[in-house]
Amino acid sequence: MAKVGRNDLCPCGSGRKYKKCCESKDRGGTVQNWTMIALVGGAVLAALVAGIASFSGERASSPTRVWSSEHGHYHDANGVQVP
Ligand SMILES: [Zn+2]
Ligand SMILES: [Zn+2]
Repeated sequence: MAKVGRNDLCPCGSGRKYKKCCESKDRGGTVQNWTMIALVGGAVLAALVAGIASFSGERASSPTRVWSSEHGHYHDANGVQVP
């Protein structure tokens, strides 16, 4: 695909110069694409960070032994009394 100069006639056939015609549209499309990529990338990153945070948070809040104030002793992950 040949590169269109900004002062060349626009390839869309409008008879106007490319810089006065479709250049801004082409740029807009590129910006939109980058915005989409940024949005999707940001969402994926946020999901990853949330997943890591919840994973480590789960590990921190769910130790192998869980204190039961009701029973007055520890339970393990299966709910069995730990001496
Ligand atoms: Zn054009
Ligand atoms: Zn118990």
